[in-house]
Amino acid sequence: MLPYASMQEAEIAIGRPLTSIETLWFNYTADKSDYILYCHNIPLIFLLSTLVPLFYLLIELMFPCYVASYKVQPKIKVSLYDNFKCYLVVMRTFFLIVVPVLLVSYPSIKMIGIRTSLPLPSSMEIISQLIIYFVIEDYTNYWIHRAFHFKWVYENIHKVHHEFTAPMGFATQHAHWVEILVFGIPSFLGPAIVPGHMLTFLLWIALREIESVENHTGYDFPWTFKKYIPLSAGAEYHDYHHYVGGQSQSNFAPIFTYCDYIYGTDKGYRYRKRLLQKQLKDGSKSDGSYASGQDIKWE
Ligand SMILES: [Zn+2]
Ligand SMILES: [Zn+2]
Repeated sequence: MLPYASMQEAEIAIGRPLTSIETLWFNYTADKSDYILYCHNIPLIFLLSTLVPLFYLLIELMFPCYVASYKVQPKIKVSLYDNFKCYLVVMRTFFLIVVPVLLVSYPSIKMIGIRTSLPLPSSMEIISQLIIYFVIEDYTNYWIHRAFHFKWVYENIHKVHHEFTAPMGFATQHAHWVEILVFGIPSFLGPAIVPGHMLTFLLWIALREIESVENHTGYDFPWTFKKYIPLSAGAEYHDYHHYVGGQSQSNFAPIFTYCDYIYGTDKGYRYRKRLLQKQLKDGSKSDGSYASGQDIKWE
C-alpha cells in the first residue's frame, strides 16, 4: 500500500510531478495492499499460460498453409483433443500446487525487498534488471535441467515433461509438480539478488512465461521476439531437446545458447544442423525437419 494519502503528498515526497504511468500506478495501487499486488502474478500466469498457447493453436488451425513451412517437426501433428487434455493437466497442477505456493510465498518477496511505492523505476533500471534476471534464470535452469536428466530423476519426475516429443504451447508447463516448483525457484533468484520494483517483478513473471511458451510452440517463426535477442535459444533449439527425448544430453538451456556451447552439451545438435544443411544442399532431403531424419545418428 502506498504511504501517501494523496497524489499531491506523493509529488512532494518525490520532489517532482508524477509521470502519467506513475499517476496510473498511484490510482490503481493506492487502496491495495502489497500482498494483493504480489498476488497479481496468479491471474497473470493463468492468463498467459492460457492465451499465449491458444494464440499459437489458433494460428495453426486458421492458417495451416502459412504455418506449415515453420513447423519444426512437420510430420508430427498434435490433435485438438491432446491439446485440451494437456491444458487440463497443466491447470490441475496450477490450481492445486502453484496457486497455493504463490499465495503463501509473499513473505519471501517482502524479505527480498521488492518495493511497491513511488517513484517507479526508470525504463533503463527495468531493462537492466530484466536482463540480469534472464541471465540468472538461464544459468540456474541449465544446471537444474541437466540434473533432471539423471536416470532416476528423469524416470520419476522429468519424464512427464518429455511426454510430447514434438511439443506445443500448452506443453510448456506440462510437468511433474516437483519439477514445476524446482524450476520456479530461479525466477525468484534474480529478484532476490537484484531486488527491484513490483512492476518489474510482474513484468519479469510475464516475460518469463511468454518466453517459456515460445520455446514449446513447435514453430520456428521468424517474427518471435526471441529472434531479436543475441545468443537466444528458441523453439527450434528446445524442440530438438524434446525430439531426442530421455537420452537427450543436449540443449538444456532455456533462454540462451552459450551454456550448452561452453559445457559441450550442444554437440549433437550442431552436428545435426551441419548434416541437415548438407542434405538440403545436395538434395537428399527436402525439408529441415528432424522427423524424417531418424536414421541420422545425432550424438
Ligand atoms: Zn529435459
Ligand atoms: Zn520443454
